[in-house]
Amino acid sequence: MTNRTGGCFCGAIRYELTAEPVFQVACHCRACQYASGGAPTLAMIVPRAALKVTKGTPRTYWAEADSGNKVGRSFCEACGSPVFSEPSASDIAVIKVGSLDDPSDFKVQADIWMKAAQPWHVAHEGAFQVEGNPG
Ligand SMILES: [Zn+2]
Ligand SMILES: [Zn+2]
Repeated sequence: MTNRTGGCFCGAIRYELTAEPVFQVACHCRACQYASGGAPTLAMIVPRAALKVTKGTPRTYWAEADSGNKVGRSFCEACGSPVFSEPSASDIAVIKVGSLDDPSDFKVQADIWMKAAQPWHVAHEGAFQVEGNPG
């Protein structure tokens, strides 16, 4: 397997993924709408240990989720690109697919946080929908 690689728009942050994604989602939560500019955030979920930052240090904003758990949202301080997030309550990293060098094989398996979706958000064909976090 060739490791997936990615980084931010300006190249200051680079990372490598040493495992294949365990799940692929479109997250419609309100926080993700801020990160994306309005649309749901598209992300590959990998075991946290599989994410290795190889260049730079992303800035992380720790937001509190409805559950009270913290979510660290990491982005490039220079260009502002969101690169990944890490929910404190689980052992995963959520990789923003736009930051992958090659996002072309991404496929949404689930639309999550549909209860926060805007009326003009569209669910993905063939994906299942959940109101909040995938159980
Ligand atoms: Zn950057
Ligand atoms: Zn979200």
